[in-house]
Amino acid sequence: MAFTRKPWAEPYKIKVVEPLKMTTREYRLEKIKEAGYNTFLLRSEDVYIDILTDSGTNAMSDYQWAGMMLGDEAYAGSKNFYYLEENVQKYYSYKYVVPTHQGRGAEHLISKALIRPGHYVPGNMYFTTTRAHQELAGGTFVDVIIDEAHDSQAELPFKGNVDLNKFQALIDKVGGENIPYITVGATVNMAGGQPVSMANIKAVSDLAHKHGIRVILDATRVTENAYFIQQREEGYKNKSIQEILYEFCSYTDGATVSGKKDVYTNIGGFVAVNDPEIFDQLRNMVVVYEGLHTYGGLAGRDMEAMSRGIEEMVQQDNIEFRIKQVEYLGNLLIEAGIPIVRPVGGHAVFLDAKRIYDHIPQEQYPAQALAADLYIHSGVRAMERGIVSAGRNKETGEEYKPKLELVRLTIPRRVYTQSHLDVVAYSIIDLYQNRHETTGLKMVYEPSVLRFFQARFERL
Ligand SMILES: *Cc1c(COP(=O)(O)O)cnc(C)c1O
Repeated sequence: MAFTRKPWAEPYKIKVVEPLKMTTREYRLEKIKEAGYNTFLLRSEDVYIDILTDSGTNAMSDYQWAGMMLGDEAYAGSKNFYYLEENVQKYYSYKYVVPTHQGRGAEHLISKALIRPGHYVPGNMYFTTTRAHQELAGGTFVDVIIDEAHDSQAELPFKGNVDLNKFQALIDKVGGENIPYITVGATVNMAGGQPVSMANIKAVSDLAHKHGIRVILDATRVTENAYFIQQREEGYKNKSIQEILYEFCSYTDGATVSGKKDVYTNIGGFVAVNDPEIFDQLRNMVVVYEGLHTYGGLAGRDMEAMSRGIEEMVQQDNIEFRIKQVEYLGNLLIEAGIPIVRPVGGHAVFLDAKRIYDHIPQEQYPAQALAADLYIHSGVRAMERGIVSAGRNKETGEEYKPKLELVRLTIPRRVYTQSHLDVVAYSIIDLYQNRHETTGLKMVYEPSVLRFFQARFERL
């Protein structure tokens, strides 16, 4: 028997293919130099396997593509909107929905509707765009995630949970009337795709509501979260993803969603709530910032693709494959002794660059160098999540030195096969074996905000 474990395979077959460009090492050396050793500045054409992000990079199904032809492109009252509304009610439990062009459009609307200057907005770790909109609306973000979420090696089943003591302490300090809502992200992107338990969301909801505070879910990857609950939490083994998702959302007062993740689309998002007065505000504002409340910056066909994607995301085969594919890559690396963040999360594997490039000091950007070296080695594009992403302290001008110095390998949904992931793992293992041959980088151009997107480097 040639197999050491029971094989598994993608729960789809391939109908349309997109050729990949194979390049030489010399070619890639030139391209990464031109890109200032920043993988965000590479042209997609020059990339072989692109695991920069899972945002909007998904492969839609034939069912979604067929729906694209049924786009009702009316300015007002498109039938695709009513179908989206029906599915949001059915799967996410919320009464009212306002479509937006993507997740940050939804975050903009809810932040503007609920936050006033001087308000505090707690959350289980920040997310870049979510926090940006909360701050633009005059709020102050307060991190209330459990401590272990900041430790790359702490093996917990629900590492995204809210720390109820931290939440209570904030309420005691500033008063419930100064907290319009708590944002709960599920799963938590910045913690490595770590889930929140059903028990935790219920407890957060009880505590928040006792103090007149709303719970707004960042439901961008909530299906991945539902899968982890099914696998890890007592009492959910025999429940469907659809049931778990519905129950999870039912403890919250509303949600913002980026359709570019769980919903398998390339663009789209929405904000959903239960309170008719908040809905009224959102509906008034969306006309100014996005478009009429029955399209919110999307074409009818995009709303159709989202509605159909919602139906697909809760199918056991789809979500199980999604999580297992990420886990598969993680396990190949663990077996080869490569240091990664544990446990493996829902959407990505994170390489611990501090340990892999232990000869490069943090001021010489080891994770940035590792992402560049991986591209040079094999044309695989990943991204830095370390000192470059962390930026500088606004007051002192000093660079933040985050504990975690990581390279994120993010897997788009339904795009790559196991063989692609074998190539990724092989490349990393090969690179690891010769890791002391490389050197660090120096930054030669630094943008003032979100510097990681456009910063440029040279080899030391
Ligand atoms: C991507 C993302 C968003 C923002 O959505 P966009 O569609 O990129 O605007 C918000 N929250 C989380 C957790 C995300 O991953």
